Amino acid sequence: MVGDVLTPEQRSYCMSQIKGKNTKPEVALRKALWGLGYRYRIRNRLPGKPDLVFISLRTVVFIDGCFWHKCPDHFVQPKTRAQFWLDKINGNVARDQRNNEVLRSEGWKVVRIWEHEIKESLESAVGCVVAVLKKQGGDF
Ligand SMILES: [Zn+2]
Repeated sequence: MVGDVLTPEQRSYCMSQIKGKNTKPEVALRKALWGLGYRYRIRNRLPGKPDLVFISLRTVVFIDGCFWHKCPDHFVQPKTRAQFWLDKINGNVARDQRNNEVLRSEGWKVVRIWEHEIKESLESAVGCVVAVLKKQGGDF
């Protein structure tokens, strides 16, 4: 079993890479919002599988990795297989935009946060989400 040869750190790193879920910035944001009284769902079948879904407030939050979603500040083009990666990542960006449109057309408020925003300041990332949730009627 793979689990037997990896240290816990390696294993959790691998899992976060495979599933793209439960990465540290995402968990930090989630916990902070939960602490403020906001309740959300993680598992969902909405377009693009948002990281957080606030059902009654009709709001979804995506936490976008800087590389995979082509952050303007941190995306660095890989030197090897450059075209392959560029196509793949441009595909992700196009899909993000399509998912945003579909969600908005279904009445969802869409919030996208860069992973680096959470790493730089959890407080301001939380503030950004809370501002939207309040507008959507979620004032605690
Ligand atoms: Zn970034």
